[in-house]
Amino acid sequence: DPGGNVRVVVRVRAFLPREIQRRAECLIRMDPVSQSTTLMAPRDGDSDPANARARSRRAVAEDKTFTFDSSFWSHDRADEHYATQADVYDSLGEEFLDHNFEGYHTCIFAYGQTGSGKSYTMMGTPDQPGLIPRTCEDLFERIAAAQEETPNISYNVRVSYFEVYNEHVRDLLVPVVPNQPPYYLKIRESPIEGPYVKDLTEVPVRGIDEILRHMHTGDNNRTVASTKMNDTSSRSHAVFTIMLKQIHHDLETDETTERSSRIRLVDLAGSERAKSTEATGARLREGSNINKSLTTLGRVIAALADPKKPPPRSTSSISSLLRPKSRAGNSSSSTNNTNVVPYRDSILTWLLKDSLGGNSKTAMIACISPSDYEETLSTLRYADQAKRIRTRAVVNQDSIS
Ligand code: ADP
Ligand code: MG
Repeated sequence: DPGGNVRVVVRVRAFLPREIQRRAECLIRMDPVSQSTTLMAPRDGDSDPANARARSRRAVAEDKTFTFDSSFWSHDRADEHYATQADVYDSLGEEFLDHNFEGYHTCIFAYGQTGSGKSYTMMGTPDQPGLIPRTCEDLFERIAAAQEETPNISYNVRVSYFEVYNEHVRDLLVPVVPNQPPYYLKIRESPIEGPYVKDLTEVPVRGIDEILRHMHTGDNNRTVASTKMNDTSSRSHAVFTIMLKQIHHDLETDETTERSSRIRLVDLAGSERAKSTEATGARLREGSNINKSLTTLGRVIAALADPKKPPPRSTSSISSLLRPKSRAGNSSSSTNNTNVVPYRDSILTWLLKDSLGGNSKTAMIACISPSDYEETLSTLRYADQAKRIRTRAVVNQDSIS
């Protein structure tokens, strides 16, 4: 089936020290059977002023229940249903890597307010590696195993890492030069591959150590800039991409086929940055809070979730295979929706066009804090809407004569 819905999962993190200090109440319940997540209304006398405000603004603040493909309970380790970093990888990352070896593009992005666990889930810590390092490790383990079994397949892996900050693209694999203004890259569009970052560094990698080294380089570059520019990491979108090419030489027919897939792992800016106006006086230094890529992502998701036109009849994956030029999603549902889906309104949505509504198998991880009613409700609604998006992934395979 080339069409498929965006996979949507939610993950709640543990209390942070500051939340323990103010005796925060956990507002989240998850049901391991139905995979539903319930957000409970804060009680009277909740120690968080924002929750107290949320309560007073609503005549009756209600409990809200949403169902997702998975609800990961990472709130307290003592619970038998506690979801570790390995559990999240086993439930989502591993299957997506299967798709990559089959020749599909994939994209997993983490959404949520600042401090909700996006970077922890995607990157993790040295002790608790997240989806990105686990994907890298599994990728090279599979390649090593396959090379033993099927020597007529060769593998080529390249990696890139960039961030979108304030509608500029910065290459994270190029060192930050002290006392130099940051160097921004331009976006171009190719008829075959779609939008891409011009002159972006794409490094060939031969093993796990190499790829992790580049991952750390990029992460450090992100941090260096973030301390200089005051909190960039909560405002920037980080896009880690692995390109996997499998070259298969059929010894009997002497035919060579090439399968290329792209693995995109995205750590989005804090979702609170999407708000253009704030009801409370507390954040009146807005302007700086607005993040065009994030607000546009919201509009893109809304448009894709409720397309005006029904999607066209599915193009079979076979015919797409025979016409490699149609790969960029030109033949898929995205064409018919181009008028209504505002991909081009921001850098991030333009670059992720295929991942959001085209040729990709896509998942969204909605990260939530345990004790923030308003932001969590907004994240859960966003995630609920994303469930309705369908993408049309095709196997990206070409014959080379
Ligand atoms: P974000 O990237 O969304 O701003 P982080 O990933 O930096 O948030 O998480 C905020 C803090 O919470 C970090 O100190 C992180 O280590 C911790 N944290 C997040 N998720 C978890 C989790 N599932 N288990 C334990 N600690 C977590
Ligand atoms: Mg982060």
